[in-house]
Parts: sequence; C-alpha cells; structure tokens
Amino acid sequence: MGIVDDDIARVRDASDIVAVVSEHVQLKRVGRRWSGLCPFHAEKSPSFSVNSDQGLYYCFGCGAKGDVITFVREAEHLDFAAAVERLAAKSNITLRYTDARDGENRKRRSRLVEVMEAAVDFYHQRLLEAPDAAAARKYLRSRGFSSEEVRHYRLGWAPDAWDTLVRDLPQPRELLVEAGLAFMNQRGRPTDAFRGRVLFPIFNANGDPVAFGGRLMPGAEGPKYKNSSGSSIYDKSRVLYGLNWAKADIVTSDEAIVCEGYTDVIGFAAVGVGRAVATCGTALTEDHVRTLRSYASRVVLAFDADAAGQNAAERFHEWEQRHGLEVSVAAMPVGSDPGDLARTDPDALRQAVADAIPFLRFRVDRVLNGRDLSTAEARARAATAALEVIGSHPDPLVRDQYVMDLADRLRLPPDELRTRLAHRGSGGGGRPERGRPDPTAGTRPAPTPVAVLHDSPELEALRLVLAVPDEVAPSLHDALFADPLCLDAYRALGTAGWRAAQLADTSDEVVALVQRLGVEQPVSEPAEVIERLAEAAGQRQLAILGNEARMSGDERALEVAGVVAWLKPLLESLRDPRTAPEAAPVLLAWLIDRYEGRA
Ligand code: ZN
Repeated sequence: MGIVDDDIARVRDASDIVAVVSEHVQLKRVGRRWSGLCPFHAEKSPSFSVNSDQGLYYCFGCGAKGDVITFVREAEHLDFAAAVERLAAKSNITLRYTDARDGENRKRRSRLVEVMEAAVDFYHQRLLEAPDAAAARKYLRSRGFSSEEVRHYRLGWAPDAWDTLVRDLPQPRELLVEAGLAFMNQRGRPTDAFRGRVLFPIFNANGDPVAFGGRLMPGAEGPKYKNSSGSSIYDKSRVLYGLNWAKADIVTSDEAIVCEGYTDVIGFAAVGVGRAVATCGTALTEDHVRTLRSYASRVVLAFDADAAGQNAAERFHEWEQRHGLEVSVAAMPVGSDPGDLARTDPDALRQAVADAIPFLRFRVDRVLNGRDLSTAEARARAATAALEVIGSHPDPLVRDQYVMDLADRLRLPPDELRTRLAHRGSGGGGRPERGRPDPTAGTRPAPTPVAVLHDSPELEALRLVLAVPDEVAPSLHDALFADPLCLDAYRALGTAGWRAAQLADTSDEVVALVQRLGVEQPVSEPAEVIERLAEAAGQRQLAILGNEARMSGDERALEVAGVVAWLKPLLESLRDPRTAPEAAPVLLAWLIDRYEGRA
C-alpha cells in the first residue's frame, strides 16, 4: 500500500478509536463499549458499537466493521494510505513509505497546504493592517462583520495589484501556481490569481486551508465571486465551506444546514446556529452529500431549493433514499439570504430553520399554494401538477402518503389519484424501484394469506429475507439462528444474494425449505421478528452462562455473574414494546460479538 507496515501498526496503536469515531458519531457508554447511531446506514436507534479495548467498531445493522483506519477510510471516503496519513498527522507520527513516489506525493500535498497557510496569513494581515485595505474593512463593517469574526474566519484582502503575493510571499513560484494562488500571464510573468477582493479562506474538514473564495468590492468590475481552481488539495465537488468549524455541532445535533455562500455560514454561526456549511460556487453534489451523511442523518437546505429545478429535486430524493438521509427545506423570507437575515432579523433566521419542512412537502406546497381550487376542473389540474412532483420520489410508501394527503386537500378520491400517479407520463406505471430484486419475478405463486404463522421466528425471518431482503438481511446474523436447518438455509441464501433461484451447493432439505417459505407470505414486521430472534438467542446465552458459572472457578464465576446481571434486565426490556427498539440493537451487538469470540 506504500506505507511501511510497522508505521501502519504504530498509527493504529496510537489512535484512540473512540475519539476518532466521536468526530462523526455521538457515542454513549454502554457497559464496556460505546454505542451510537451508525454513520453508514439510516437508523433511529443505535446499533453502532465501538470497543475501545480492541480498537474495533461493529454495526449490527449494516455489518460495517473494522478498526480505526477502516473507519476513517469509510467515514471520510479516503483510500487506505490517505486514512493512515490522516491518523498519523493526528498522532504526530512521521510515516515511511515503501515506494518513494508515494512519499513524494504526500510531501508535495503537505507543502501545498503550508503554502496556502502562508497565503492565508499574508492576506489576513493585509486586511487587518494595510492602508489599501481600508475600503475592504469598511465594507465588511457595513455588512455587519465584527473584528472577532474577521479574525476567527481569517478573512483576507488581496490588494488590487498584479503581483503583490508573488513578490512578497517567500514561497516557490511553482507551488504558488500549483496551489491556484498565481498563474503565468501571456508574457510569462507570474501574476496573482486574486486581485482587489475580500478573501474567505476555505478549509477542508480537518482545518487545513485548501482554497480561497474571493468577493469583489461593490462597484468594481468583474464577476462578484471567484473561487480557487481545483488542485491536488482542493476538489470543490467534495469540500464544504465551514465544515471544519461546524462538524462538532453537526454531530451533536445530527443535522447539517447547507447554504450557498460563505457569508451565510458566518451569519448562521452569528445567530448561534453553528451547524451550517456552504458549497463553494457549485451545486450540491453527491460527494458533498456523502460527506455530510458521515456526520449527520438530516440535511436542511437553506437556499432557494425551488430554483434548483426538477432534475436537482429528483437527485435529492434519490440521495435521501440511497444514503438514508432526510432532506428538508428552510423557507427563507422572499428576497433574503441567511447572511443578510442574520444581521437584520436573527429570530426569523433561527425560526426558518426550526420550521424546516420535508423537501417533498415543500415542493408539493409550492405547486398547490396560491392556486384556485374552487372548481372541480381547477382541482383536477392542481392534482396533475402535484402528482408530477410526488412521482419524482423513488419510495412508493412515501409517494402513497403524499397521495392520501393530496386527496384530502383537494377532496378527490385517493384511488383515482393513485391510478393517475401510476399512469402519469408515458403510462409506464411509475418508476422502477431501485436496488431491490423483484421477489415476484418468475413463477412465484400468489401469496398465501395470513393464517400460516406464528410458527417460529427463525422461519419467519427466512420468509422475510426472501420477500424483502433489503429490509431484513442487514439485521440478521448467524448468531440469531439455533435450528441447524434454518441456519444452513440462512447461510445458503446469503451466498445466493438472497435469491432462492440462485441457491447452489446446498442440501435438498435446505432447497425444499426455501421453496416452501418462498411461497408463504410473511405476516410479521421485520423489527418484531428480529426482536424475537434476539430474545431467543439471548435466553440461550443466559443458559450457557449459567452452566459456565457452575462449572468454573470463582474468578470466572464472578465475571459471568456480572454479565448475567447485565443481560437479564436487557432481555426484560426486550419484552416491553416501549423499550424493545432501544434494547434490541444493544443485545444484537453483544450476541454477534460473543458469537465471533470477541465477548
Ligand atoms: Zn450501520
């Protein structure tokens, strides 16, 4: 991989996995481990568990697992070497590389960050002190920036001259060019990239300066905003302005606010809302969304989401689904942006965020509000327009809730609206659902109605995994099956990608069982079945622990008694529907650990 093995091991040992995970997830201590909401899948109750003694994490929900390096790779979307480098920097470990080129590239990037750092300081001092920055200082004051803000965000002033930076900053020219701070003009002279602009330094999530956004002074000629071009340290489709300051707040509140401008981020922080970030002169990309998702499960859009257009809207809905994200919209008063509102009406800004509504609701409201709904014809037209919006959401359950709500608002029969939704556009029957194999494909007979069950939660789990694999398979584990035939069937199905038709290399018994279960309709909720499985598995472990205590010496018996004292009340809370959703993930994580010999 490029980095010397010993150094990788040193980095792993020196890193505190709880501290590293806590940058993304709010962790709570549960017994001997830590638990929180998984940053890799959508969930309401914590199934993500961190064991600091072993330096490992595990999610019972989606199966994500690994050590501190894996975590940084996954959460921050880095390759292996970059993740090790990031952790090494945190622990002040100097890495050695097996391939000289890797070392060179890494050195080059950290040199570029140094150059950026020097430029941030240079421009910041100019803004604070230079006589030619007087107008810029006055402008910032007039926009409501305090001197504390100017210092905290390290705002700068790029003089209105050709080569101040190139001349006065003692850094190699080719690095200034590579960092996007300078370029060669047509006569081959090095020239400053930013001239006559107020500068907002852009930092990556770790707080390294990687770029600038520059705003022209009012009345000056040229585009109002200019941003650094991309470089090996700056990718504008990934970097979010303000994330370095906001990430702690984003993790604690499980919510990020996305706005459009640097001044919006600063404005939000000024009114005590420290969880805002901004895209840097681009539309929100999926990489931005993935980055945000690793810190929070809710995103509030604080810009004109309507202007983003239908295509963007469909993308947002897809990201909601694919990344387990809730997108909502804070409606700003017409004609104002968060940066302005923060100075003129802070309460209105805070309220807009508190009143944020789901993105789809926002779009449907936009279509319906202000329409004449007095006649049947007008209501039918409104319905058509609203269904067009509703149809852009990929989840049939969500679509149906909005259809019922629409029927209510327009006093139209819901079934009629459902039919219209299914036949809108080319009459193709709506959008195909993503990522789920169609369980009814092929020769599957009509489902048998209810009566069949409740025979055994293990059989029911297999029925569910055949019917709705995406919903159930991630929560299941070998540890939950006691019946050997069910366990074999579960494992064989896992190998077959949860498709009965793909079963190979397995016994006739398993095939027969799977065929039978495949035609029976599950009647239970996935969560309920998993709770019953966990409870049964927990009871089995309780019996094993009891035997163990009887057979072993005092010291081990004492240890076992401690585990039993923890396990018993947990099993009890699993039987209470009010506490079961909390207890199940904790128990599952422990069962899996124990099954895999870690507990
Ligand atoms: Zn997970």
